[in-house]
Amino acid sequence: MAMPDLITHGAVGLLLGLAWVRRRPAPMLPLFVAGNLAPDLLTRVPAILAGEVDAKLVRLPPVLLYGWEPMHQPFGAALAACAIAMLFERGCRGRVFLSLYAGMLLHFLMDIFQFHEGIGIMMLYPFSTTPFEIGLVGSEASVWVALPLALLAGLAWWWLRWRAVGSTAPRAPAQE
Ligand SMILES: [Zn+2]
Repeated sequence: MAMPDLITHGAVGLLLGLAWVRRRPAPMLPLFVAGNLAPDLLTRVPAILAGEVDAKLVRLPPVLLYGWEPMHQPFGAALAACAIAMLFERGCRGRVFLSLYAGMLLHFLMDIFQFHEGIGIMMLYPFSTTPFEIGLVGSEASVWVALPLALLAGLAWWWLRWRAVGSTAPRAPAQE
């Protein structure tokens, strides 16, 4: 997980999410974007933290160091999305789950287009350990696309908000 990867995932999530909801109120849009970031954050952040603790404070069992990878696979991600949805009010858990999980599936779709030198993603784990990878772009490509994508997503966000405000604000009284 490199920073450009996170920016690319966030920007693509925001752009597709905005294209989908357009000017309608979109309480689930942040969850869709968060879902597109979650597989990397849920696996890399705890692994890095556990690695630091293991190296500097106290020896940890291997499962805490290397056991996070299933959340970077569709089945484990579904369990994670379920667990997060349970933190929300009962009435909106279904929508929370679907928004998060749609973002997660988009994350995997983006990832399998990258080369991982044959490692790929075990999309069907724990039912199969076959790795999937389409491998059209190298992971360094995101360094070049991350910033333009982030700018584009920011502009799209600003433009849609500006149009939404413009369409609901009362007209200014005409000047004499
Ligand atoms: Zn990823």
